Order: sequence, then structure tokens, then C-alpha cells
Amino acid sequence: MPAPQCASCHQARAALRRPRSGLALCGACFCAAFEAEVLHTVVAGRLLPPGAVVAVGASGGKDSTVLGHVLRALAPRLGVSLRLVAVDEGIGGYRDAALAAVRHQAELWELPLTVVAYADLFGGWTMDAVARSAAGSGRSRACCTFCGVLRRRALEEGARRVGATHIVTGHNADDMAETVLMNFLRGDTGRLARGGLLGSPGEGGALPRCRPLQLASQKEVVLYAHFRRLRYFSEECVYAPEAFRGHARALLKLLEAARPSAVLDLVHSAERLALSPAARPPPPAACSRCGALASRALCQACALLDGLNRGRPRLAIGKGRRGMDEGAARARGALPGGGDAEAPPPGGLDTGVPPSGDQDTDAPPPGELDAGAPSSGGLDTGAPPSGDPDIAAPPPGELDAGAPSSGGLDTSAPPSGDPDTAAPPPGRLDTDAPPSGDQDREAPSL
Ligand code: SF4
Repeated sequence: MPAPQCASCHQARAALRRPRSGLALCGACFCAAFEAEVLHTVVAGRLLPPGAVVAVGASGGKDSTVLGHVLRALAPRLGVSLRLVAVDEGIGGYRDAALAAVRHQAELWELPLTVVAYADLFGGWTMDAVARSAAGSGRSRACCTFCGVLRRRALEEGARRVGATHIVTGHNADDMAETVLMNFLRGDTGRLARGGLLGSPGEGGALPRCRPLQLASQKEVVLYAHFRRLRYFSEECVYAPEAFRGHARALLKLLEAARPSAVLDLVHSAERLALSPAARPPPPAACSRCGALASRALCQACALLDGLNRGRPRLAIGKGRRGMDEGAARARGALPGGGDAEAPPPGGLDTGVPPSGDQDTDAPPPGELDAGAPSSGGLDTGAPPSGDPDIAAPPPGELDAGAPSSGGLDTSAPPSGDPDTAAPPPGRLDTDAPPSGDQDREAPSL
């Protein structure tokens, strides 16, 4: 059966059926609708005021690639200027290749790029060194937790270096839904209290952050990259398979199969979640070492580095945080032993054991820069990764998998003049970017 006409332009053949609305659209109309929705998210949420200097967290992955491409197109209408900021975690065999993808994008988009490295910012600690230390303490599964905390700090530092007034990251709706699930599964009311808002306003001197793709599904992000022929890096980070996020992702897939709206329902649930006063974490104060926002004497990054430097990387990221939440509850009389909201959990910083498994809630999105669900394959050629169940092509003649063309559906080429079409030929992103190592998507944080 031939594909129907596009429901928007009524001229081209439809190439996909949008998962959310069910509308059959051609590639060009889908991309235009996607961009309009991101614009609406930014404008309605007042995320980026005119004149803002925006640091785009760039990982080379699909989410930050799509975010950079869309914001570059919208920047004149929004009246903002863009800077790319990439974080080099120091992950051998992986990040170098991903950074090559970011450099390629910066050149293509003619945007300034700044790379900040863990090793420079954190006293020589690379993620590989952190992993070795964590493995020695039996905490090897917590790599993404450590990485997420450090990346958040690194991105803030990089954004300040380029004079940014705002930070944007590429978290999509699936990333956020996974994070909501993880926080529920861990009983992490502190993070749930921070909620699923589109961003944070920049408390305590931190730069405001937002996630313009937060309402876009992962499927549509991939489809947008496909139709715009964006090239991105899609290998998995070597530490990703151990992350607790993988369990949340698997659970979400099951939920989505039974209830297609589960992803956005979870995101909206987090936005509207109201915690009882007893469950709310205490207002953050300044870290006694670096001045960043902290729930205790030291912020997460300083506490983590403190533990690493002492050879005790089991830090107050998990149970410690929960301890604080419980401390706050006690202070409000909801739990026995009230009045000790300022007291650290028993044993001080080093007793922190994540409530369950590892903790990567601060690692975003796949990339706070993006660390979520890795796609299969190596350097992406713009086509959805084969074997990705989310974008599996529908059977011939069927249109509704939200998949790019197959079986006679539109194979719309990007509009001419799109700078991204100047990308290298399929199968090659950048000669500097060998498809070696693994790739990640950073775990988003709420
Ligand atoms: Fe860091 Fe992402 Fe790798 Fe985890 S998967 S260690 S968050 S880069």
C-alpha cells in the first residue's frame, strides 16, 4: 500500500507517523514541526531570554547534535548567541573519538568550541583513574555517578570560561522519564523534589540550565537527525553497561510497549509532583570549599574528590543524600530523632552508599552532555542506527512505527542549503574520529 500524503503540506508522501500525534508527515514537515515545538518550549518556558549567551553542552552524541543544530537555526529568532562546550572526561578509547565529532560540528556550524578536561579541573583525576579507584573499593558500578557529578561541575566551569549566561543540555523526554523512574526506584526524594521542570533557574550563583528537548521523544530526536542528515557519534561508553540507568531504560521500554504515552506521562508527573513538607530536602547552602550549592558542608563534587584523594571513593552521593533527606524529615518531626537536619549521616561523608546499585542521576544526559542510551553502531551516518528497536522500520507498506522511510516511504533529503548537508559522506564523520572505543550518553539529572 503506498504511503499516504503528508498531512501538513499535502504534496509529498508521508515518511513517518508521529508517535505522539499520529500525524503522517513528510520529512521536511516533520523537521519543521519539531523545530517549532522546540521554539515553543523555549519561548513558553522563558528558558532563554534575548541577549543570552548560551553554552550548549556538546558531547558529539545524537541529542546534543540535534540540540545544537536546532538552536543554531532558532538563534536569530530567539536573539541568543551560542557557544559549544565539551567535556573531556578522560575515558580512553571513547571520548577522543566523540570529541572529534564535536570539533567537526563546531567547524561545520561555525561556532566557538571550548573543551574542558577533568584532568585539568580536578587535580589530575580522569574518569579512567576514578574508575580504577572505584574498582579497588568495590564501587566500580558507580562510575556514572561519579562522572555525572564531575561533569556537571565541568560544564559549569566551561560555560563560565566562555562568558555564558545560560547552559543548555540535550536531555530528551526518554532521558528525563528514566531519571524520574530511577529516583522513584531509589526513593530519592531530594532529586524528585527538584522535579522535572524544564530547567533550573540558577540558584546560589550557578548558571541557569535548561533542556529544550525535554518534551521531545528519543524516537523523534533520532528521526530529526535522520531527516536532517546530521552526523553524530553513537558508540557506547565503556562504563555505561554497569549503570543503573540501564535497568530504568529497560523498564521504561516495557511500560511504553503497554502504554505509548508512558514517557511523557512520567515527565509531566515529575513536573507536577508535590512532596509533603516533611519529604522536601533542606534549602541548599554554599559548599565550604568551593562555594557551589551544597546540601551539606561539602558539595557533591568536592566530597567526591575529597574521598578519591583519600583513597576512599565511597562517598555521600547515595545514602548520604538520602540521609540528608531523612535528616530534614527528622528536623520537621516526621521521623524519629528530629532536630539534626544539619548533621551528616552516621559515619560522615564516607558512609554514603547509594540506596541501590550505582547512581548516575547527575550524569546527563548522555550528555549532560548526553549519557543515556547509547545507540548502536559507530559514527552515525545520519540514518537511524540499525537494530534500534525504537526506530525499526515498519513492514513494507506500513507507516506507523515512527520510522524513517522504508517500503516506499519518503526518503526526503534535507533542504538544500542546510549546512549540515555538507557533512562527510555516509559512513564517515570525520577522519579524525576513528570509530574506536565505546560511546555513552550521559545520564541526565533532575
Ligand atoms: Fe560518564 Fe556517560 Fe561514561 Fe557514565 S556512560 S562514565 S556518565 S561518559
